[in-house]
Amino acid sequence: MSRQLTPYEKNFLTRHNFDFSNTSIPTDIPIEYLVNVAEFRGLNFYIDQNTLIPRIETEQLVDLALENILTNFKNKEKIVIADLCTGSGSIGISLALELAKRNIDFHIYFSDISKDALDIAKKNYYNFLPKKIANANFIHSDLFNNFPKDLNFDLIISNPPYVPNERIASLQNSVKNYEPILALDGGKDGTEIINKIILQLPKFQKKINCLIEIDDSHNLDKIKSEGLNPSLIKDQFGVNRFLSLFLL
Ligand code: GLN
Repeated sequence: MSRQLTPYEKNFLTRHNFDFSNTSIPTDIPIEYLVNVAEFRGLNFYIDQNTLIPRIETEQLVDLALENILTNFKNKEKIVIADLCTGSGSIGISLALELAKRNIDFHIYFSDISKDALDIAKKNYYNFLPKKIANANFIHSDLFNNFPKDLNFDLIISNPPYVPNERIASLQNSVKNYEPILALDGGKDGTEIINKIILQLPKFQKKINCLIEIDDSHNLDKIKSEGLNPSLIKDQFGVNRFLSLFLL
């Protein structure tokens, strides 16, 4: 069956120079993968099937992180940040751009378990912040495993895989047949990776300060955040989407 493009999809593809001649487009493929572009906070990120297509909800994570930095580190000389499970790098790069715009000095560590995804994050970072390349490190790592032990992050941000394993089979075809399952599957309840991150925070933060995107089915009973002043933050669709942890 050939693909009937919606007007919105045609607009998007035209804007991103898709060659419509002689192409039969698979029924369920996300159009972003046809042109290797995803729009995030008005920016065009390079993406391919090694990375998730950043979702609109995730844009808010950048605002939360920026607000967090402006509130907590007003007078700090350099803000040290980690973006774990970075994928295309869209969160950390957008945050870095916001900081650069305000002349706030930063160093940001990007990591991903997928080397292919990390290479894409790097490519995007070079594209958006060519003059700030010395301010970033790219660590191929399963969460913190390959991080130098002496790092102390002011803020850790992450949009880890968090879809409950039992829900993967019922995801839309455009998601489950095209996007990397590695970036989606959060194990039992979808909290396995979130909990692994939380468990390691004290090794990499003298003061816990962390923002994580979560599934709307998650609650504080499923997340191992006792003692870290956890709070859940809703997205623009009114469901729990972010977890904030903060301990001085
Ligand atoms: N929000 C994504 C989805 O529902 C999942 C993103 C993630 O697991 N980090 O497809």
